[in-house]
Amino acid sequence: MATKSHKASILIAEDEESLREGLKLNLELEGYEVTTVDNGPGVIKMVKNEYFDLIILDIMLPDMDGITVCETIRMQHNDVPIMFLSARNSGADRVEGLKKGGDDYLTKPFNLEELLLRVDKLITKNKKIKEPQTIGDIYEFDGCRIDFGAHECTDKNKQTQELSKKEAGLLKLLIEHEGEVVSREQILQIVWGYNVYPTTRTIDNFILNFRKFFEKDSRNPRHFHSIRGIGYKFTK
Ligand code: CA
Repeated sequence: MATKSHKASILIAEDEESLREGLKLNLELEGYEVTTVDNGPGVIKMVKNEYFDLIILDIMLPDMDGITVCETIRMQHNDVPIMFLSARNSGADRVEGLKKGGDDYLTKPFNLEELLLRVDKLITKNKKIKEPQTIGDIYEFDGCRIDFGAHECTDKNKQTQELSKKEAGLLKLLIEHEGEVVSREQILQIVWGYNVYPTTRTIDNFILNFRKFFEKDSRNPRHFHSIRGIGYKFTK
């Protein structure tokens, strides 16, 4: 199941066309999924609608500067890694950028190899934090059984039910994080993949199905919990 091996997605926010397109090409050659934008407000809009593993954010952007963009993203409780690019080699700028929530800072003109190394480091570091414990293909709880390999489960009535790829993916994710709240953002990243956005209702419908399959009393769930505005939790 391709839960952890999806291509990392990067948003490049840069108004200088040649630099933006050059970066895009080089990052795509490294195997990243790349989206580009050329103005500040555009970054905020995109981040609201899509999941990214990293943002490469130019400081001097039209309509809203990169530092304000970064500050706005952090105010929305989004901790996507942000790497600033700046034409100005000023220490004050660097400090300001990092203070407003940036994770790294590179001055133009930069060495491409150095940028690629830093990009890889930021994405890897962020993924490690989210690395779950792994479970095998078969998982049993409360008289039910899930076979992730065969994409099926035995429900509370001992009936075999088929699971779609996304159902199996979401079940696995929740079970791997047993007892922890899994945020909507994590679910989107891992189960739906980058750049596709289901609504919260879509995830809710999956949870309702899981309750039908596995909960003895689906109105008083013991295993599949929704935590409003935050995410979802599985308990054994
Ligand atoms: Ca610029």
